[in-house]
Amino acid sequence: MDQTLSAAANAVRDAETVAALTGAGVSTASGIPDFRSEDGLWNEYDPNDFHMSRFRADPAGFWRDRVELIADLFGDGVEPNAAHEALADLEAAGHLNTLITQNVDGLHQAAGSDDPIEIHGNGRRAACTGCNRRIDIDEAVQRVTAGEAPPTCERCGDVLKPDVVLFGEQLPKHDLMRAQSAAREADVFLAVGSSLTVEPAASLPRHTVDNGGQLVVVNLDRTEQSKRADFDLRADVTEALPRLTETVLEE
Ligand SMILES: [Zn+2]
Repeated sequence: MDQTLSAAANAVRDAETVAALTGAGVSTASGIPDFRSEDGLWNEYDPNDFHMSRFRADPAGFWRDRVELIADLFGDGVEPNAAHEALADLEAAGHLNTLITQNVDGLHQAAGSDDPIEIHGNGRRAACTGCNRRIDIDEAVQRVTAGEAPPTCERCGDVLKPDVVLFGEQLPKHDLMRAQSAAREADVFLAVGSSLTVEPAASLPRHTVDNGGQLVVVNLDRTEQSKRADFDLRADVTEALPRLTETVLEE
């Protein structure tokens, strides 16, 4: 791995533009349960309960179920890990231009990353379905727990929704376009802790590769895009990312 890691670090250092994508593997290292693995949250909860059509038909029931899921998702003491910090350091040093994440936990911002593109939204917030006013998810949870289900907007009175992309809901177009154009422009695309199976994340690295850029994959297991990768690092993201950043910043 050492050689691949050094070579990947050289590519990142020499690149003019670098984009990174993070997936569930970066969150699970902070103790956040994932959704899709064998003992992921979708084994405990029924995904249909969190579908957009359920939210529309029964927002009160949706919110009561959601409060339980939020408690499991963002338990106490969840903090950024070494991979989040390594990406924030890379960005601060000017070696990471765009950070895209599939994760909804807000841990990149907590680590100091500036304005990551959250293609699946941010579960730490609720947003008004009418005027898009956002509030902290804790406030929404408190109101639901106190009997206000569904919670409504204090400005316009419309129903609040967790500020994440639900099943059956379109990804935010603007964010998706920003992510795609960042991938197209990147000399190096760094895919971290994502199995690269779920669209649109799966096709983002392809934009870079199709445009002649290089792909670095850091993931414990082989990914769907590993065959395209110029540098395929099968490693723990909390070990490999800090080493990668350290090596990039060495010279
Ligand atoms: Zn509103």
